[in-house]
Amino acid sequence: MLGLLALLTAQAARALEIAFTAVAPGVYAYVGDTEGRTYDNEALNANIGLIATPQGAILIDSGATVRTAATLAAAAQRATGQPVRWVINTGTQDHRWLGNGYFVRQGIPVYAHANGRADMQRRGPEQLSANAPVLKDKQAGTEVVLPTHWIDGDDTELTLGGVTLRLVHRGGGHTPGDMMVYVPAHGVVFTGDVVYVDRILGMHPVSRSRPWLATFEALEALQPRIVVPGHGRVTDLAQAQRDTGELLRALRAHMRRAVDEGVDLGTAVRTFDARPFAHLKHAEVWLPQLANRTYLEVEQE
Ligand SMILES: [Zn+2]
Repeated sequence: MLGLLALLTAQAARALEIAFTAVAPGVYAYVGDTEGRTYDNEALNANIGLIATPQGAILIDSGATVRTAATLAAAAQRATGQPVRWVINTGTQDHRWLGNGYFVRQGIPVYAHANGRADMQRRGPEQLSANAPVLKDKQAGTEVVLPTHWIDGDDTELTLGGVTLRLVHRGGGHTPGDMMVYVPAHGVVFTGDVVYVDRILGMHPVSRSRPWLATFEALEALQPRIVVPGHGRVTDLAQAQRDTGELLRALRAHMRRAVDEGVDLGTAVRTFDARPFAHLKHAEVWLPQLANRTYLEVEQE
C-alpha cells in the first residue's frame, strides 16, 4: 500500500504542468524553464504561445515530444475553451517543432518558414537522438514530422479563424527557420528564439548573427507593446533590447573591428566587454562561445 502510494506520488510529481497565462485578451503564453533540458521539464525549456480565435485556437510551437504536445493541447483547451486548430513553428530547434506529429496525425495544419525545411530534415533525427538519453520513455512515439504548410518571404500576412497575424522572417538567426508571429490587434509578438531575456542567448553551428540582428531590427520596427520571448519572462521591447539586441550588436561590432584590425581570435574573445551582460543567467559559461562563433562568422563575411 505504501509502495503503491509512493509510486503514484512519484508519477504525479513527474507530470509536466502547463498552464497558459493571458498576456492580452485571447492571447496567452506559457513561460518554460530557463535551465537546460531535463526529464522533468520534457525539454520544454522554452516559451509557447497561444491565440484564441472564434473558430479554434492557434498554438505557437509544438514542444519537443508528442507527449508534451498532448499536454499543450489540453492546456490550450483549458485556457481558451477550444481545441487547437492550427500550429505554427517559430524555428527549427527541438522544442519548437518535434511535437508536430501529435497534430499532423489529427489533420491539423502546421505552418513554418520554408527556410527552415532543410534544417528540420537534416537535424530532426539528430535532435531526437540527442534528447533520447534525457527524455527516455517520455520521448516514446515522437518522430520527425515536418510542417504541412510552408511560408515564403519576409513579411507574410496569415489570417486564421478571423485573426490576422503577421509572420516576420529575415533569413534566420538562432536557426534558419526563425519566424516571429505578430498579433497586430493586440501589439503582441511571439519572437521564438529571436529574443532571450533573463538568460543568455544560445548560438549553435546553424546560428548566424547577421540575419539574427536583421530580424531583431524588424522586431524593433514593429514597436510591439508586449514581447513574448523564446526564453525568459514575458516582457517589453526595452528588455528585449538590453538582453538580446544589444548583445548581438556589441558582439558583431567588437568582432568586426577585431577582424578588420587583424586581431587574433583568442584576443578578440578575451577583450570583449561582457559587463553589460553579466546579469544574464549562464553568461559566464556561454559568452566565450558566442564571442568565438561571432568572430568566425564575421571573418567569413
Ligand atoms: Zn530555444
